[in-house]
Amino acid sequence: MPESFDIIVVGAGHAGCEAALAAARMGCRTLLVTLSADQVGQMSCNPAIGGLAKGQLVREIDALGGEMAKVADETGIQFRMLNTGKGAAVRSPRSQNDRVAYRAAMKRRIEQQPNLSLLQATAEALLVERGPFGHAQGRPEQRRMGGPATMLRAVGIRCLGGVEIRSRAVVLTTGTFLRGLIHVGPAQMSGGRMGEPSAEGLSASLIAAGIQLGRLKTGTPPRLDGRSVRLDELKLQPGDDAPQPFSFSTVSLPGPQLPCWLTETNPATHEIIRANLHRAPLYSGQIKSVGPRYCPSIEDKVVRFADRAAHTVFLEPEGRGTSELYCNGISTSLPMDVQEALVRSIRGCEGARIVRYGYAIEYDFAPPTQLWPHLETKPVANLFHGGQINGTSGYEEAAAQGLMAGINAALKLRGEPPFVLRRDEAYIGVLIDDLVTRGTLEPYRMFTSRAEHRLLLRQDNADRRLMRHGRRLGLISAKQIARLDEKEKCIAELRLELEQTKIGGETLAQKLRRPGTTFADLAKLWPDLNSESREVAEQVEIEIKYEGYISRQAQQIERARKVEDSRIPDGLDYESLVQISKEARRKLGEIRPVTLGQASRISGVSPADISVLMVHLAARKGK
Ligand SMILES: Cc1cc2nc3c(=O)[nH]c(=O)nc-3n(C[C@H](O)[C@H](O)[C@H](O)COP(=O)(O)OP(=O)(O)OC[C@H]3O[C@@H](n4cnc5c(N)ncnc54)[C@H](O)[C@@H]3O)c2cc1C
Repeated sequence: MPESFDIIVVGAGHAGCEAALAAARMGCRTLLVTLSADQVGQMSCNPAIGGLAKGQLVREIDALGGEMAKVADETGIQFRMLNTGKGAAVRSPRSQNDRVAYRAAMKRRIEQQPNLSLLQATAEALLVERGPFGHAQGRPEQRRMGGPATMLRAVGIRCLGGVEIRSRAVVLTTGTFLRGLIHVGPAQMSGGRMGEPSAEGLSASLIAAGIQLGRLKTGTPPRLDGRSVRLDELKLQPGDDAPQPFSFSTVSLPGPQLPCWLTETNPATHEIIRANLHRAPLYSGQIKSVGPRYCPSIEDKVVRFADRAAHTVFLEPEGRGTSELYCNGISTSLPMDVQEALVRSIRGCEGARIVRYGYAIEYDFAPPTQLWPHLETKPVANLFHGGQINGTSGYEEAAAQGLMAGINAALKLRGEPPFVLRRDEAYIGVLIDDLVTRGTLEPYRMFTSRAEHRLLLRQDNADRRLMRHGRRLGLISAKQIARLDEKEKCIAELRLELEQTKIGGETLAQKLRRPGTTFADLAKLWPDLNSESREVAEQVEIEIKYEGYISRQAQQIERARKVEDSRIPDGLDYESLVQISKEARRKLGEIRPVTLGQASRISGVSPADISVLMVHLAARKGK
C-alpha cells in the first residue's frame, strides 16, 4: 500500500475497535484491518454486555474514554443491576443488546473517527526488522538502567494477496481467529466464527518472530426461532424498573425493555447427553485444548455436576428486529441430531426449531507472560497484543485490553512512559497484572473475587478513579472533567451536611452508619436530601457506611506501595541470586517482572525470595 501508518490494528472485534479508536484519538494515523467489514464489533456469542465483574470493566473503559459502554447503552434492549441484594463491591451492571444494532453502532464510530481508516483484508504475516531497538519496555528510566534491547521490531503487516502495509507499531487483536477450528459433533471446519474464515498464516509469522503460541477452546449454544418456543409457559425475566446506564455520559436509555425467559434442563435432557457423550468432540478426544472453566458446555455440566437435576437456561432475545433467541446455559458442540433432541427435551422448547447449531472452536493464543504490563510483547518491540489472543474470554476483558494496548502503542510512538494501571486502581489493572504475571492455562474471565481491593474498585466510582487518567491521555473531554468536578463538589457538600446535621442528638451520618439504614430513610427525616442526585447520594451512602473497611484497604495499599513501586531493572541475572529458590529464579527469569510487587505475585516466588531480591536491589542501588 502506497501510504504507511503510525499504527495498524489487526482485528475489528471488541479489543480492536477500542485499540483503534484510542490510538486515532491520541493523534496516531491508524489503520484497522479486519477479515470482514460487516463484522466490526460482532458479539461472537451472547448478545449481552457486562455482568458480574465484567460490568465494572465496562464502566472503567468508559471512564478512560473507550466506547463499549456508550454502544451498550445505545443498543440495549434490557438493563439490570446484578447483586443489588449484596454489598456495593459486587454490584454489576448488565445489558442485553441488539446484536445487529451493536455492530452498526460500533462501526459508525470507527467510520466517523478522524485519523482512522478501516480495511477489509486478512493479515497473513507480521513484518519485522532486526535491531537492537532500544529497550523493550520503552521506559526511559529502564533504558538508563540498561538491560537487553529487543532484537526485533514490528514494522507492518503483509496481507493475503501480497499487499504490504508499513506502520511504526502493530496491535494484534485477533480473537478466536488464529487457526480457528470449529467443531459440531464429528464435523470440523476451519473458521474464526461460524460462517467466517479463520486466519491461517499469521500464527506462523508470530512463531518465526519468537512469539510462543498455545491452543484454547470456547463454545456457544444453539439459537432458536422464538416463534417455535412456548414463551407464555416460561418465567419472565424483565429488566430493572429504573435501569441504570453503563456510561457516565449517557443521559437516557432506549426503551421499551424486552424480557428474557427462564427455563431449565431436566433429567431427560441429561440422559440424552450422557447417552451421546462418546459423540461429543469434548469427550471423544477430538478437541484437545482447554476450554473456559467458568463457561462450561452443557455436556461438561452434566458430567461435572452429575447430581444436579436441572441447569438453568436463559432464553435471550437477539434483538428488536428478530425472533431469534440465544439459549444461555447450553453451550454445546454435540452433533446436530443430539442438539435437536436435547433442545426439545427442555420445557417450552418441545417444538423449538434451531436456527443456528451450537459449536465449539479451538484457536491459537499467545500466552500473556510474553507481554510487558503495558501489553507490548517482549520478543518484538512495537508489537502489542490485546483481547482473546491473550487467553481471555469475554467481550469486556477484550475491550479493556484493546483500549490499553491502543493507548500504549500511541504512547510508545510518542516516546512517553507507558500507561499501566495498578491492581488498587482498576479491574483493568487486576486483569492485565494477572495475565502478564501469572499467565493463563485456560480462558481467563474476570470475577470480583480476583480483585483484592474490590471495595475500592466499585462500578459506581469508576469515573472518580480513572477519568483524570483519561483526560491526561486526551481521551476524556474538559466538559466531562467539569461534570466530574461538580459531582465531587456535591459529594463533599452532602457529606458535610450529613456529618453536621443533628436530629435527636445524633448526626444524619451516625444514623446512616447503623446497619439497615439507607439514604432514603434519612430523606424521610430530612426532606432536603430528596433533591440530591442518585449518583451523589449513592457515593456518600457507600463512603459513610463502608468508611472503616475503605480506610483499612487504603492503609493496606499504602503499605504495599513501596514494594509495588520498586522497579526491577530488566536483564537482571536472577541465576546469580543463589539464595533465591531454583524455581523462583527460573520463573523470575521467564517473566522478568518490572516491579517487586509484580515479582511477589509470580506463582512459586516466596516472600523470602522477595526479601533476597530487595536486599540485592538496595545493594545495587547503593553502588
Ligand atoms: C463460539 C464462541 C463463543 C464464545 N462465548 C462467549 C461468551 O459466552 N461470553 C463472552 O463474553 N465471550 C464469549 N466468546 C468470546 C468472545 O467472543 C471474545 O472474548 C471476544 O469477542 C474477544 O474479543 P476480541 O476483540 O479479542 O476478538 P473477536 O471479537 O474474536 O474479534 C477478532 C477480530 O479480528 C479479526 N481478525 C482475526 N484475525 C485476523 C487477521 N489475520 N486479519 C484480519 N482480521 C483478523 C476477526 O475478523 C474479528 O473481527 C466466545 C467466542 C466464540 C467464537
